[in-house]
Amino acid sequence: MRAFEATQHYFHQAADQLQMPDWMRKLLITPKREVSVQVAFERDNGSIDTLVGYRVQHDNSRGPMKGGLRYHPGVDLDEVRALASLMTWKTAVVDLPYGGAKGGIGVDPKAYSRKEVERMTRAFVDQIHDIVGPDTDIPAPDMGTNFEVMSWFRNQWEKYHGFNPAVITGKPVEEYGARGREEATGRGVGTMAVKLVKRLGMRPEATRTAIQGFGNVGSHAAKFLSEAAFPVVAVSDVSGTYYNPKGLDIAEMFRYILNHQGLSGYNNAEILNGEDLLTLDVELLIPAALGDVITKANAKDVKAKMIIEAANGPTDPDADLILNDRDIIVLPDILANAGGVTVSYFEWVQNRQHYRWSLDRVRQELDRTMSDAFEGVWQQSQESKVPLRTAAFMIALKRVQKATELAGYS
Ligand code: GLU
Repeated sequence: MRAFEATQHYFHQAADQLQMPDWMRKLLITPKREVSVQVAFERDNGSIDTLVGYRVQHDNSRGPMKGGLRYHPGVDLDEVRALASLMTWKTAVVDLPYGGAKGGIGVDPKAYSRKEVERMTRAFVDQIHDIVGPDTDIPAPDMGTNFEVMSWFRNQWEKYHGFNPAVITGKPVEEYGARGREEATGRGVGTMAVKLVKRLGMRPEATRTAIQGFGNVGSHAAKFLSEAAFPVVAVSDVSGTYYNPKGLDIAEMFRYILNHQGLSGYNNAEILNGEDLLTLDVELLIPAALGDVITKANAKDVKAKMIIEAANGPTDPDADLILNDRDIIVLPDILANAGGVTVSYFEWVQNRQHYRWSLDRVRQELDRTMSDAFEGVWQQSQESKVPLRTAAFMIALKRVQKATELAGYS
């Protein structure tokens, strides 16, 4: 199923529960604006490359639109559209005063030099600078982009519009970035795991955990969870799956990736060949890499009792049905990975107030925001007797619908 279709499916499940009329569904689903632009830039060898960049602005009824920029070969209009709408529901479920957007370029940034990625980013900003801004649409990092890309983006945007660091979040801490932004998504995932395990009457020490992806999100989630006494028994990245049934030394692996390109070459763990991390015998499974990895083909083989969706859109609707039938609890992406955009919001607030928060304050407010959202979703799920995903979408839809009604329709 294409990504946007899958998101719509989850939307309709919640809209059915809320008995939302068709005309309101159509109003809430349809993106406000979709832009495709030419991104042409010079390679180091003097030749010119031409790529396509996208920005989809889905909804702004609750505030300026917010969402990341993804540089990945899988980026196309359908994917960006799906991810933009997920941002609307994500910001609503954690109650940030934002709408949703997403953007990106269909490219493998690793195939380009650092200077080329800089020129690519600046060329992209040249095309979209007039539709983004601190009061309209605020980009941020996503897969394939980082604090450096945010810095180039801001610098190029300010050439047109003047000083205003709140135009983008996820900036380097030295350049108006927020302390704690880098760890935020992984930390939020960890916070959700602690809450979920407690609610289910389980113990962290007895919750063997497998994490797919050891990039920014997966590695910080692993770090948080191992510090909270969860045995993280398996993690994977493109180089393979690393396994230790007694729990991996996550602190050591974390140090390792700071000095290497990923986990390749790490040898203080068993390396599983051909065995799928997603179907390992664990209590908690955390997909923290690409979308669409839990499908009809493997959902019946998942052994975990709980899945926390750290990636965006990791479970397709067919798989979701199978998991529900098998009583596997799925904490959905729009809640589980909202820690990143939450600290982005704190960064934007600090930029606008010209005031810096301590790391402690960022962590405390992140914890409070995520914990309140978790409790709300849990309550809704109990009251309506629906899975956590449907409950999270119900809360988000109600908030966006209310704001849309208050603002009027024209
Ligand atoms: N790309 C992240 C996400 O999917 C963060 C977005 C943001 O901080 O605006 O939630």
